[in-house]
Amino acid sequence: MNRSLPQEYSQSGLPSSVSVYEVSARDGLQSQDRTLPVATRLELISRLSAAGLTSIEAGSFVSERAVPQMADTREVLEGLDLDSGIAYPVLTPNQRGLDEALNAGARDVAVFLSVTEAFSRANLGDTREITTERGLDVARSAVTSDLRVRGYLSMVFGDPWEGPVAPEEVATAARQLLDAGCSRISLGDTIGTATPGHVTVVLDTLVSAGIPIDAIALHTHNTYGQALANVYAALRFGVTEFDASVGGVGGCPFARTATGNLATEDLLWMLAGLGIATGVDIEAAAATSQWLSDRLGRPLASATSSAITAERKQAS
Ligand code: MG
Repeated sequence: MNRSLPQEYSQSGLPSSVSVYEVSARDGLQSQDRTLPVATRLELISRLSAAGLTSIEAGSFVSERAVPQMADTREVLEGLDLDSGIAYPVLTPNQRGLDEALNAGARDVAVFLSVTEAFSRANLGDTREITTERGLDVARSAVTSDLRVRGYLSMVFGDPWEGPVAPEEVATAARQLLDAGCSRISLGDTIGTATPGHVTVVLDTLVSAGIPIDAIALHTHNTYGQALANVYAALRFGVTEFDASVGGVGGCPFARTATGNLATEDLLWMLAGLGIATGVDIEAAAATSQWLSDRLGRPLASATSSAITAERKQAS
């Protein structure tokens, strides 16, 4: 028995395969104290693609002063084979970012909307009305340029200032993103406050409002240890795309205790145990997590990586 793979017990009613949307090279790195050079960011992406990941966020075209960790995203894109069949989306918060992404040859971009007023002002720098119009304009413009566009919704499951968020608000924003041409809507549990029943209610509201389940992805944060439980609830509802980050890198400046994104290798472990195909090698993902931990100079928060590393030490 290979101890680095879980035993497989499939369950009826769950998808037979899902996509893992890897965010470490963008969402993960943008919040780190240590800024990694372009060559290291490219090596991370190369290790992720070698592990079998086929959607790897590569960076963002934002102000270098505001987010120095994402400076030189153009050079990152230039170092990638954009014809390889692997998608390398970049975040484009405004028209200038979109123009830069187009100049760098990007094929996939992502835009952000906040479903709350407070987060819109704090993170996107303007009222919700203005930032929503801006995000939708960028999405429409990107579609006109034949790009694939992913729409992120922030604060879907609660906001640190405003508290609870009405699922109907989420459905309205998701509809706006779809109408603007987004092919996928990623529901962001930005501060990690979702629980499985909450996820189910939000998904039920979206599907009842006519949002197709296969247009929905879930972006979980493990702040309160609920990320995998939330993924399981979404799997039962038929969601087939999940955002994750090797080693769980990432975080939210508004949740200081956050351990960050759901770790890719933890997600892969559960999916493998459920017999759900991903095409991604768990051990390669865990090895990439350890490698990234060394580059960032700190331990990363993944139970699976810790267990696999401990097993290896015992075996050697
Ligand atoms: Mg995140």
